[in-house]
Amino acid sequence: MSRSAIVVGAGIAGLTAANALTRCGWDVRVLERSPEPRTTGAGIVLLANALRGLDAAGVGDAVRAVGQRAYPGTLRDGAGRALVHVSAEQIAARLGTVAIAFHRPRLQEALLDGLGDVEVTYGAAAAAVDPGDAARPAVVTLDDGTTLGADLVVAADGVRSRLRAAVAPDAAEPVYVGSTTWLAVLDNPGITEMSQTWGPGGEVGLIALGDGRLYWYATQVGPAGRPTGDPAADLAAARAAFAGWHDPIPQVLAATTPEQVQQLDLYGFPKPIPRMVRGRVALVGDAAHAMPPNVGQGGCQGIEDAVVLAASVSGGAGGAGGDPVVDGLAAYDRVRRPRTSGVLRAAWASARIGEQLGNPALVGLRNAALRALPARVMLDGMSRFARWTPPTLPVG
Ligand SMILES: Cc1cc2nc3c(=O)[nH]c(=O)nc-3n(C[C@H](O)[C@H](O)[C@H](O)COP(=O)(O)OP(=O)(O)OC[C@H]3O[C@@H](n4cnc5c(N)ncnc54)[C@H](O)[C@@H]3O)c2cc1C
Repeated sequence: MSRSAIVVGAGIAGLTAANALTRCGWDVRVLERSPEPRTTGAGIVLLANALRGLDAAGVGDAVRAVGQRAYPGTLRDGAGRALVHVSAEQIAARLGTVAIAFHRPRLQEALLDGLGDVEVTYGAAAAAVDPGDAARPAVVTLDDGTTLGADLVVAADGVRSRLRAAVAPDAAEPVYVGSTTWLAVLDNPGITEMSQTWGPGGEVGLIALGDGRLYWYATQVGPAGRPTGDPAADLAAARAAFAGWHDPIPQVLAATTPEQVQQLDLYGFPKPIPRMVRGRVALVGDAAHAMPPNVGQGGCQGIEDAVVLAASVSGGAGGAGGDPVVDGLAAYDRVRRPRTSGVLRAAWASARIGEQLGNPALVGLRNAALRALPARVMLDGMSRFARWTPPTLPVG
């Protein structure tokens, strides 16, 4: 018998959940607040755990086809000197698959394509959810007052989630991570290798995305509230902040236009959520565990959530007198909360180290330590969370 699921939010986590659930035989509907699919957005790198999750959801090959190998990559100091170099082969040998960089709209397109004729409704903002229980469906209420019931509701509505309150009303609100970031995608002026520069008070990444495009991000520690809403002013601030950094950083920023750049203050949840499920509702992705981007796992964890969720609610028959969805959600919570809590804590620890890097003496000490590290140690750090295998989905 087909079971019904409503997925709220068509970001990476929501669309992966929709693919995974459809694959397991669920009748899925996706609700997205934006009036249309997003055609803008910067880049993202997905590591082995996420790519394996996407394989389990049935979209791994289609997604890989729109991405580009992210490595080889070099970590540099503020003067441009190499601290550590990692090759694609080293990553593949360690993790069984390379890391892949994506232009976000193309990743989203591939995830949407995977859904085939699943209904995705744009301009549909969920206002609230009644979580239901073993005897009653969950009911989503939209801003226009429409109510929609389902056996399962997947709350994938991001860091500013409205549905989170129905699951964990006592959970902490998101807080400012301590840095602002500029992001852009532009025609690649000839950069072939990923580079990440850890300079005083900030970090810059340059990542080729394929299709002749380059993604850059530049993060600077400091107070919140610096994005002005005027892209030309924000870009001018980025150029000024990174003017003295090594080549080709100033040149890449100079080649970027205001239309290509966005600046955002970074927010995350200060501590792990006390529960990820209630009744027939599951939180996935940033709605559950938005974190500082420092360990590059936010999107990857949302993909893991989505696949484990689909496996948890699709397998069993439920315990005595139980309901397979409600019981499955309890299992999802048991598996995912410890995992995502560990990643969230690691991301905060890494962000706090970043915050101290306004101090040049500390930067010098850190760089000296990094220079002494073989690539193996860097790979160990990357493997810490990327070495994960998804459950097998009961494909129906
Ligand atoms: C600068 C930066 C760099 C990053 N780099 C990486 C990286 O390299 N690798 C990585 O794995 N992660 C990275 N991340 C983290 C990653 O971007 C996020 O974890 C991921 O995008 C979260 O996906 P999501 O689907 O949970 O949420 P979102 O992408 O926020 O999607 C939520 C969706 O829900 C919709 N929505 C919101 N409210 C409602 C509502 N009420 N009703 C209906 N729809 C609603 C929104 O419009 C949106 O489409 C980075 C983050 C930042 C900020």
